[in-house]
Amino acid sequence: MILTLDQSPETLSADVCIIGAGAAGITVARKLMQQSRSVILCEAGGLDFADESQSNYQGQVEGNAYYDLEIARLRYFGGSTNHWSGWCRPLDEYDFAAKKDKPLTAWPISIDAVEPYLKETREILELETGVGDQVLGSSGLKRVAFEFSPPVRFGEKYQVELEQQKIIKVLLNANLVGTEFDGRRITAVKVRDYHGNERLVRARNFVLACGGIENSRLLLWLQRIGQLPATVQTGLIGRYWMEHPHAPVGDVVITSPHSFKFNDIALDFFAPTKAFMESHSTLNCQLYLKTTKYGGAKEVIADLLCTAPAVGEWAMRQLGKDLACVAQLKAAWEQEPVHANRITLDDKRDAFGIPRAVLHWTRNAQDLRTVRETTLAFAKHCARTDIGRVRLADWLTKTGNDLPDFDEMGGYHHMGGTRMAASSEAGVVDANCLVFGSDNFYLAGSSVFPSVGHANPTFTIVQLSLRLADHLRKQMAARA
Ligand SMILES: Cc1cc2nc3c(=O)[nH]c(=O)nc-3n(C[C@H](O)[C@H](O)[C@H](O)COP(=O)(O)OP(=O)(O)OC[C@H]3O[C@@H](n4cnc5c(N)ncnc54)[C@H](O)[C@@H]3O)c2cc1C
Repeated sequence: MILTLDQSPETLSADVCIIGAGAAGITVARKLMQQSRSVILCEAGGLDFADESQSNYQGQVEGNAYYDLEIARLRYFGGSTNHWSGWCRPLDEYDFAAKKDKPLTAWPISIDAVEPYLKETREILELETGVGDQVLGSSGLKRVAFEFSPPVRFGEKYQVELEQQKIIKVLLNANLVGTEFDGRRITAVKVRDYHGNERLVRARNFVLACGGIENSRLLLWLQRIGQLPATVQTGLIGRYWMEHPHAPVGDVVITSPHSFKFNDIALDFFAPTKAFMESHSTLNCQLYLKTTKYGGAKEVIADLLCTAPAVGEWAMRQLGKDLACVAQLKAAWEQEPVHANRITLDDKRDAFGIPRAVLHWTRNAQDLRTVRETTLAFAKHCARTDIGRVRLADWLTKTGNDLPDFDEMGGYHHMGGTRMAASSEAGVVDANCLVFGSDNFYLAGSSVFPSVGHANPTFTIVQLSLRLADHLRKQMAARA
C-alpha cells in the first residue's frame, strides 16, 4: 500500500526498511516482497514532482563545470528514472578487476556475482537480449552492444503493484531525518514530512538508497551528528566520486555506410579492447556515432577543405559519388577514482536542517589520455579501412593537458562516494553492500561502485539491488 505519513500508523515496523524509492530502492523492495518479506519503503517525495521536495537537492559544485545539482536528479517516487534516457549496458568483465597501474579500480567482487541477475534485470528494464561485442581487427577497438530501455519509469511502472501489496508500505513525503541505534545495529529511522508529521520506523535491516550524491550526504551528516554506530569509523564517506565525462570528439565523413551498424536511433557504439587499454594506459571509453543531416555533411567537408585540404578533397569526391553521410562522434569515458573528487557538507542547510551537498569534481590528465587515445584509434581505424575520415575536435589535437568545458559535462551518472571494498581501510561498504562497522545497515545504488567502466550505471544498479535483496533474505533466514 502507498500512504502519506499522516495516513500511516504511529508505530511502523518491518523486516526491512528502505530509504529512497528510485531504481535501487524499488528493486530491492519488490524482490523482498516476492520473497514474502515485509518492507517499509520511505520516499522523500510524493507521486509527482514538487518544489517542496526538489529544492532539498540544491547544492554547490566546485572544480570543473557541472550541472546544477538540483536539476541533475529528481526527488520523488521513481527518483531519477522519471527523466532518465534508458541507455543500458552491463559492465565488462574486466571492469571488475584492477586496471593497469590503477589498483583503486578493483571491485571486491567479480562479474560472477552479478551475472545471475542479468535476465531479471533485462526483464525489469524491458530490454531485448543484447547482441555481443565484435572486435574490429587489429584496431584495438570493438563495436559494443547497447540496449535501450523504453525507458522504464520505475514509479509509474510499479505504483499499482506496490499499492496492491499489503506486505509492503510505501511512505510518501517521508524524509530521513535521524536514526536510533544499539551497538552496531540501527534499530529505527525517523522520517518527517513537509508539515512536521514524524514517524519512527523499526526494522531488522535498513537500506539507504537515496542516489549517488545523497547516500554520501546523508551518511556524512549522520556521522557528524553521532547517529551512526560508533563502530562506523570510516573517513572515506563521500570520497572517490565519479562521473562519465562526456565530450564531442569530432565528425566522421562516412563513405562505407554498410561498415557501420546504426541502430534505429541512428547510433553506433565503439570501445577499446582490454589489450588496448593496457598498452595505451587508458581507462574504458565509449565512442558513439550519431548520423547528422546532409547539410551538416557539406559544412564538415567545407571545414575539412580549410584545415586538411587533401582529406577534404577526398571527401568531396566521395560526396560526388553520393555516398557520404556525416556522423557526430562523441565520447563518454571511465573516470579514475580520485580521493579529492568527493561530496562534502556545506554550511547552508535544506528545509530539514541537513547540510546541503558540495560536489568537488575535477577531470585530470588520465581523462584526457583516455579520450584522446581512444578517439585517435578510431580515426586511424576509419582511415586504414577506408570506411570514412574523422575530423578531430580541435581540443584533442592540442598538446596541453587541460580538457575544455563542454555543454554536455557528464551523463548525470553519480557514482562512488561510498565505495565497495574488501576492507574498511579501502571503502565504506563490504562486498554485500553492508556499511563497515554496522551489522544491519546497507547501501544500494551507484554510490557503492569502486570503479565505473564506460557503461551507463542503471543496469548495474539493478543487478546489485537484486543481489542485495537475495543477501538480505539469506541473512534473515539464517538468523530466524
Ligand atoms: C537526465 C538523465 C538521464 C539519464 N540517463 C541515463 C541512461 O540513459 N542510462 C543510465 O543507466 N542512467 C541514466 N541516468 C542515471 C539514472 O537515472 C540513475 O542511475 C538512476 O536513476 C539511479 O537510481 P537510484 O535509485 O540509485 O537513485 P535515484 O533515482 O536518485 O533515487 C533516489 C530516491 O531517493 C529519494 N530520496 C532522496 N533523499 C531522500 C531522503 N532524505 N529520504 C527519503 N528518500 C530520499 C529520492 O526522492 C529518490 O526517489 C540518467 C539520469 C538523468 C538525470
